Amino acid sequence: MNHNDSIGCSVTECKFHCKDDNYCTLNKIQVTKHEAIAKTSECTDCGSFQS
Ligand code: SF4
Repeated sequence: MNHNDSIGCSVTECKFHCKDDNYCTLNKIQVTKHEAIAKTSECTDCGSFQS
């Protein structure tokens, strides 16, 4: 499966996840936040996720 070497990802539930070696198969993703002010990585999400 072709993947983007610049985007490592361990979200196996996502339809864009590369099952072979934990990468994303998209050319570009949008990283988002779900807090008004993000202070830790837990405040951020992959906005390109799709189940
Ligand atoms: S779209 Fe986001 S969550 Fe899905 S595989 Fe790519 S980086 Fe991971």
